[in-house]
Amino acid sequence: QAKNKGKSAYERFAPEMKEVSHERLQIESRMRRALELNEFELYYQPIVETSSGKICGAEALLRWNNPTMGMVMPDKFIPLAEETGLIIPIGEWVLNQACRSAVRWEQASGLKHGISVNVSPRQFRDPGFVDAVMHALQSSGLPAHRLELEITERLILDNSIETSEILSRLDREGVRLSVDDFGTGYSALSYLKSYPFDTLKIDKSFVQDVNAKQEDASLVRAIINMAHSLGLKVIAEGVEDEAQTDFLNEEHCDYSQGYYYSRPMPELDYEDWLRTSQRAQV
Ligand code: C2E
Ligand code: MG
Ligand code: MG
Ligand code: MG
Repeated sequence: QAKNKGKSAYERFAPEMKEVSHERLQIESRMRRALELNEFELYYQPIVETSSGKICGAEALLRWNNPTMGMVMPDKFIPLAEETGLIIPIGEWVLNQACRSAVRWEQASGLKHGISVNVSPRQFRDPGFVDAVMHALQSSGLPAHRLELEITERLILDNSIETSEILSRLDREGVRLSVDDFGTGYSALSYLKSYPFDTLKIDKSFVQDVNAKQEDASLVRAIINMAHSLGLKVIAEGVEDEAQTDFLNEEHCDYSQGYYYSRPMPELDYEDWLRTSQRAQV
């Protein structure tokens, strides 16, 4: 009987399940080697002051260049990296690389701007996480206040003592903390007053329709006002056109990020972009 059950269960899922898990396994084994083979690359997208258009930082966005799969976007591999724990070494690589880049840009252009790095829940909860952050700062020489860690609401809402302790430790070290994709979680707003966040990033799904939908305009306005009254800065994500920047400017949204200013770029293109836009601003 047991034999039968095992066999039929296997057969019931075949062949689709077998395909899927085979593909997953293949991606997983490729991902395991991607670090040593140097297949990861960071793209950088500028973050500007909404009122002046002045550059004040960049967000590091991970790309995976695989010879067989081409360029793989983070939504395709970060979830699997999370599940397998590979996000821990990959995330360390991202931290080190991003901090070093920020220092290089300063040397090249004199700009002391910030660098934002995305942190996934599994990585954040790893016991070595704070050490990894401190190591990236020390070995690059980047001052802590110029590193901003982006954390999603999903992670914060677990409400655990550990989460709160890690956030406080990072805050004491001077690292800046932001809530990414704000508004897409469960909107349990109370965490905003108990945790040491510096910045809210309004999710692009709200920003997209600020001029088309009254509700989205009201939400964005409310988020900005709430954030400001709590002493937080606001970044609007996914800004794609001038009408959106006009709205955001009128509503005193501190910073903006999106295709309207620039797409994410490879490091060297970003450096060129910095030089050109700096010239434009002088
Ligand atoms: P995110 O942190 O919310 O990053 C913003 C995403 O919006 C990026 O997608 C960016 O390319 C895209 N974007 C920027 N401006 C615009 C715009 O004007 N319009 C539209 N439609 N999209 C815009 P990307 O690079 O594909 O990254 C997706 C997500 O993957 C990120 O969302 C982040 O959660 C995650 N991710 C990226 N890099 C890392 C990393 O190094 N570590 C971890 N743990 N997660 C990462
Ligand atoms: Mg982000
Ligand atoms: Mg702080
Ligand atoms: Mg986001």
